[in-house]
Amino acid sequence: MFEHEHEATSVGADPGVQPPDALYRLDRNWRISHVNLAVETLLDRPATEMLGRHALEAFPSLRGTLVEESLSGVLADGRPRVFDYHHEPWDHWFTFRVYPGSEGVTVVVRDVDERLRADRQRDEATCQLTAVLETLPSATVLVNGDGRILSANRAWVSDGELLRTVGIEPGGVGDDYLQAMSRALDPDDHAAIAAGLQRLTASAGSSPTGTFDYEYSSKLGAFTAWYQLQAARVENSDRLVITHTDVTARVRGEQALAWQATHDELTGLPNRAALLRLIGAALDAPDAGGTALLVLDLDAFKTVNDSLGHQVGDALLCQVAGRLVEQIRPGDAVGRLGDDQFVVLAENCDSTEAAALAYRLQASFALPFAGSGITVPLTASIGVAVACEGATDPHQLLSDADAAMFSAKSSGRDRVHLFSPALREAARWRLEVASRLREDAIDQLVVHYQPVVRLDTGEVEGVEALVRWQHPERGLLPPDTFLAVAEETGQVIPITRWLLRETTRRAAEWRAQGLQLRMSVNVSARHFSAETLVGDVRVALRDSGLPPEQLVLELTETCVAEDPTRAEDQLTVLRSFGVRVALDDFGTGWSSLAQLFALPIGILKIDRSLLVAAERAAPGDTGAVLAAIVGLTRSLGIRSVAEGVETVEHLRMVQAAGCDLAQGWLLGQPMAADEVCDWVRSVQNAGGDLCALAAARPEAASTS
Ligand code: C2E
Ligand code: CA
Ligand code: CA
Repeated sequence: MFEHEHEATSVGADPGVQPPDALYRLDRNWRISHVNLAVETLLDRPATEMLGRHALEAFPSLRGTLVEESLSGVLADGRPRVFDYHHEPWDHWFTFRVYPGSEGVTVVVRDVDERLRADRQRDEATCQLTAVLETLPSATVLVNGDGRILSANRAWVSDGELLRTVGIEPGGVGDDYLQAMSRALDPDDHAAIAAGLQRLTASAGSSPTGTFDYEYSSKLGAFTAWYQLQAARVENSDRLVITHTDVTARVRGEQALAWQATHDELTGLPNRAALLRLIGAALDAPDAGGTALLVLDLDAFKTVNDSLGHQVGDALLCQVAGRLVEQIRPGDAVGRLGDDQFVVLAENCDSTEAAALAYRLQASFALPFAGSGITVPLTASIGVAVACEGATDPHQLLSDADAAMFSAKSSGRDRVHLFSPALREAARWRLEVASRLREDAIDQLVVHYQPVVRLDTGEVEGVEALVRWQHPERGLLPPDTFLAVAEETGQVIPITRWLLRETTRRAAEWRAQGLQLRMSVNVSARHFSAETLVGDVRVALRDSGLPPEQLVLELTETCVAEDPTRAEDQLTVLRSFGVRVALDDFGTGWSSLAQLFALPIGILKIDRSLLVAAERAAPGDTGAVLAAIVGLTRSLGIRSVAEGVETVEHLRMVQAAGCDLAQGWLLGQPMAADEVCDWVRSVQNAGGDLCALAAARPEAASTS
């Protein structure tokens, strides 16, 4: 149907507009019986030149081609043919449709050159792209504009095999990509990916290229894998290359880091940072009832750690964590602040409920804990704070609960205290003390001395050194305003070291002036744990030259009870120097008498509270308890000191009970160092019997 060497460019010269199909009819003898207008245009020849001629004569270049063969075929078997034909002289492609008819055949010829060439280019591009995809380590597919998978690389196929092992049918070439993906995806992720790909496809033509990034997880049986999906549109097309990179290792790493940043490694509970965030969220909650915070601090846990070892300590902390978690309601949180401090956060909880919760937590410690084959009794001091309306600062609530805990702790172990605003002031003061003690406060400490008097002769036997803080703004502060903080921060050790030097120096000085006064110095429990006490005492004695028998170290029951063996060892060494040891505040603690009397103690100081109790007992029966204690100490060779003798009645009572020594306002107030000499001399000048002098004083008589 083609004649001359025709310029290919003239064919379909208007690109993009499909020229009408050329139509011929041939009779059974191959004679052209009809051509349409399109044929004339296509060949640029009038119809008259073709009609009635043999087709192969009119178009000799078709001889021996697929066209001749096919036309013969249709004429022979009467079955239609459709085929693409490349007309070599023009290097041009056509599609032929040949239909049989009663008179011959109808031939429809369509110019498909442009389309076919474009398709071929596209296929080549696809091949190239597929080759590139094959080299990618990540599972990658090429997806057509209609969402079908055109090709998939080896990584995709092997990932698919993995999917099959967990019962998920993977997608392959020809499948709908999104549908295949939906089988391994969370619906939300699926929707997000569908939307992202849709945007990318829709942008075809507008922007030169587009990309879409999305991270998702996929549950593969019990295992969760994370993937980074990256989709890019192929330039000048609506096809997408989609890679799926396994980022499980990275995500796992990030998750581990995030977990570590918000959790306590030992117990797995939220840590301080996470707790503050939780408290903040609870305070911000729009219709929060009340937010309660409980701070728990284990009592004497340091001793547990020191005596049983950190491994046991850690195991105990984990058990404590477990018990606390058992006590809370769903929605509440338990966290660990560090060391032996835990926090419970309860939402929709008023102060009554919070107190109830605190007592429940306290009760959960009733059963002992198990540690390395032994049972360990533990108690906690609990502080409770409930946020007031409009409170938003998580740090404030935590510091309030902390202040309440501190107050519980300082009133003895195993207590629950509720926060009150006065405690906030106390907390502020503690903070000030802690920082001042670290700076210059140690230079502002002064020592006052209270006489200790023999009850048989009324002589002044010695003095007790009592520390005070000459605060530049607040004046002279008693020890209980700052010593607890000093204990906590460890500053009490340098303070005591200074005190030992100062007081022994002072006693040696008085001695040189002919005044023999035994010096009593209070020592804190902390000093026993630090194990520097023996050295500190030795240095003070050596530097001052004071005979060791002139020094008395006063320690409380609690400081011995915390770690009796350690205390005993150090006290034995001190005793071997000749230093005296007194047990202070007897009657306020809870230790066993047997344990106490096993210690190398020379003096027992009976607390004022026993005196007050004895005073309240039935008249005539006064001092039965006192007498019993004194009798016991005497039988053990221990001297007794009655503390807090304020009245003549007290004096009579302690004398009747048989106490050896007494101390109290009636006999002598604590006084500055430079007053001591004159005061003692004035007593000596008045006869030397302080008991008689005190009883004879008119104001003393009136108080009795
Ligand atoms: P403490 O060792 O039991 O000291 C006796 C306390 O009772 C002193 O209080 C003293 O002033 C007071 N006092 C004396 N006579 C009477 C009295 O007749 N009636 C009453 N109600 N109280 C009387 P201060 O000086 O406030 O000391 C309180 C506590 O602080 C001491 O109790 C002691 O535990 C501690 N402390 C004082 N100085 C030191 C020190 O240098 N080092 C250490 N570690 N603790 C010290
Ligand atoms: Ca004392
Ligand atoms: Ca005392």
